Amino acid sequence: MAKIIIIGNGIAGSTAARYIRKNSDHDITMISAETLYPFSRTALMYIYMGHMKFEHTKLYEDWFWTKNRINLIKEWVKNINTQQKTIYLGNGDIMEYDKLIIATGSKSNKFGWPGQDLSGVQGLYHFQDLENMKAATRRGIHKAVIVGGGLIGIEMAEMFHSRHIPVTMLVREKSFWDVVLPPEESTMINRHILAHGIDLRLQEELSEIKGEDGKVSSVICKNSGEEIPCEFVGLTVGVSPNVDFVKPTGININRGLVVDEYLQTSAEDVFAIGDCVELSRPNPGRRPIEAVWYTGRIMGKTVAQTVCGQPTKYDPGIWFNSAKFFDIEYQVYGDIPAKTPDYITSLYWQHPTENKAIRINYETTSGIVTGFNLMGIRYRHAVCEKWLEEKSHIETVLNTLSLANFDPEFFNAYESSFVEMYNQKNGKSLKLSSKRKLSLVEQFLFG
Ligand SMILES: Cc1cc2nc3c(=O)[nH]c(=O)nc-3n(C[C@H](O)[C@H](O)[C@H](O)COP(=O)(O)OP(=O)(O)OC[C@H]3O[C@@H](n4cnc5c(N)ncnc54)[C@H](O)[C@@H]3O)c2cc1C
Repeated sequence: MAKIIIIGNGIAGSTAARYIRKNSDHDITMISAETLYPFSRTALMYIYMGHMKFEHTKLYEDWFWTKNRINLIKEWVKNINTQQKTIYLGNGDIMEYDKLIIATGSKSNKFGWPGQDLSGVQGLYHFQDLENMKAATRRGIHKAVIVGGGLIGIEMAEMFHSRHIPVTMLVREKSFWDVVLPPEESTMINRHILAHGIDLRLQEELSEIKGEDGKVSSVICKNSGEEIPCEFVGLTVGVSPNVDFVKPTGININRGLVVDEYLQTSAEDVFAIGDCVELSRPNPGRRPIEAVWYTGRIMGKTVAQTVCGQPTKYDPGIWFNSAKFFDIEYQVYGDIPAKTPDYITSLYWQHPTENKAIRINYETTSGIVTGFNLMGIRYRHAVCEKWLEEKSHIETVLNTLSLANFDPEFFNAYESSFVEMYNQKNGKSLKLSSKRKLSLVEQFLFG
């Protein structure tokens, strides 16, 4: 029986613990400084908005960990000695390991702005950030300024909006999240943010944060020079791997902990998973650091197999991400670049009055579908995944589009538009085959 220590109890660490127990009788300890029990980080906003209590966000009931003999410790890990195979805890304890899994997640970025360490200035990543936001709200916020136009920034804006706190967002780009979203989708989100009464300032940046008595009192905008009085500044300009405490160990770190395809670091018997990881050889078209929930889960499951004696390569599968921009749900499957390259054709449909849109990209010459972007509409994950994995032809996808759709009524509204668009672009006369019944979804997926 090996001694396995996991540092970090997020989705990556928890999944690893769960699968190591499934696969073995090893001695498992999972340590985290944040909370004793693992919780869903993506649900932090709902606690602030009063939709959920912390208890509801726990990944499992408390008894789960005892029943599965997974020892939980709430403590900070200060150091690792990879020669002696020991870790040093904040409370002075020293623990030995046979195999170590580092799953320490991300931390919010700060870029050295004057005033960035004042009280009332923070990111939103850890449970403590939520507690600090709640405390700041109780003290009274007349205006919150959010710096950065990404997924966490817009969540923070929604959180304050739910408490009727006016928000100004400073977004450096010329349109919201336009480094990821194509122009039409990005424009839709700009409109949606403004429709919620958020003061969205595009092409604007933070220059300085001013304070009084150690607390934030205003921000200075870089381009306009305007001073905006505020009691809270949200720094949501991305995250980076949380690996500072590993630096003295000599384990290879670039931006994240560098791992091979088995999620092994440069140190013997030390693995790393989740947001803190940088893949030395990512799959073609994928990034070395992918700080998303589902890749953390896959890494956790993969490393569990390896440490249990079945070396398994990490395979992230098809790129998938989902988020919410106020009321607009967003899903992406596969590759949808912000700027469509020359060799790709993009079929884009947008509802004339509602915030709903679908984009399907395919390679112009081969007809192979490369990605789906969905705004305000959900597609079936397994169906999109299968189409992309099988490199399905655009005509096959158009002919069977109903398989991905949850809402057959609504689907009728756009199905023919897609075929029309396709025919126009390609001088074809593709006709929809007779509608497939949704009961055929399973047949499609499972043969
Ligand atoms: C507000 C918010 C919304 C999000 N929404 C989405 C979404 O909609 N979809 C999506 O795919 N992703 C989303 N994400 C990202 C997603 O939550 C992360 O990718 C994922 O949680 C990372 O999991 P992880 O297990 O790698 O690390 P984490 O969940 O960060 O867990 C790491 C743990 O390790 C602990 N730790 C770090 N260092 C030490 C140490 N030295 N000693 C002890 N403990 C330590 C940390 O305190 C933390 O508890 C969101 C993130 C945030 C913050």
